[in-house]
Amino acid sequence: MTEWIWLNGDILPMSDARLGVEDRGFQFADGVYEVIRLYDSKPFTLERHLQRLWNSAIDIQITPPLTPDVLTVEIQKLIAHTGVGEGMVYLQLTRGVSPRNHLFPETIEPTLLFYTRPLPKVIPPGTGEGAKLLTVEDDRWKRCWIKSIALLPNVLAKNTAVAAGADEAVFIDVGGYVTECSASNFFAIINGKLVTHPVGSKVLPGITRAVLLEIAEELGIEVDERAIREEEAARAEELFITSTTREISWVSRWNDIYIGQGRCGPITRKLHEAFQARVKRELESPVPEAAAV
Ligand code: PMP
Repeated sequence: MTEWIWLNGDILPMSDARLGVEDRGFQFADGVYEVIRLYDSKPFTLERHLQRLWNSAIDIQITPPLTPDVLTVEIQKLIAHTGVGEGMVYLQLTRGVSPRNHLFPETIEPTLLFYTRPLPKVIPPGTGEGAKLLTVEDDRWKRCWIKSIALLPNVLAKNTAVAAGADEAVFIDVGGYVTECSASNFFAIINGKLVTHPVGSKVLPGITRAVLLEIAEELGIEVDERAIREEEAARAEELFITSTTREISWVSRWNDIYIGQGRCGPITRKLHEAFQARVKRELESPVPEAAAV
């Protein structure tokens, strides 16, 4: 089956797409990206993803070539073209092609591309084995709020985790504090409260995280945004991780320690159910969800 890509304004078969060898995304990881979830061919929380894309781009001094409104229309066009229902859109914006030089070129056209990929439906909470986390040192840069395509520390961490029989790497910062995971945000239930590290230099402002915190508030679950010590996480009542592609994954293991005796806890389950209801509500709503910022 032909895979399609939107590349700098054209929709073409992925196999026909050509990028310059001196694209700064390729040579310097000089770019940013987004992953947007599709449910029933509809992009979930698209406005928030585009807002984060703009924030990331502006913070590395790239001006996106389209406005969010035009980009929304173009994304919808590609979704209609590919007909993907359950899936995602991967979008990447780089500074563009120019003779290799660390300095920003004076004139350059950004490279913008996106494509869709099918994804399986997320399994219900409490089913499956639960995610197994392996702790690794957080050796990333200090601008984690930028959704940069420079993901080598995350890639290495994830591979270390999987090689050790785990599913996801959880980053431990200097001083023994948990920040987030290689490709997901981290949450703990401690004394009945929902605890997660604040976003900023050490943690990506995850869109699923933001939706989840709103849901927790609606459910009357107390939220504490603070750094969590490694030992606290290992003794937490419940742990879970969130991302666009995972939604909410319950955690069964922290290194060799079983969390909640290896079973999905009641608060995680409740949040997961409420998240599903939120997705359903937004899909049925004729009015697009308002931008987060
Ligand atoms: N943190 C990191 C480092 C990530 O790569 C991701 C996934 N892109 C997340 C958190 C979760 O973010 P979101 O919910 O927006 O997918």
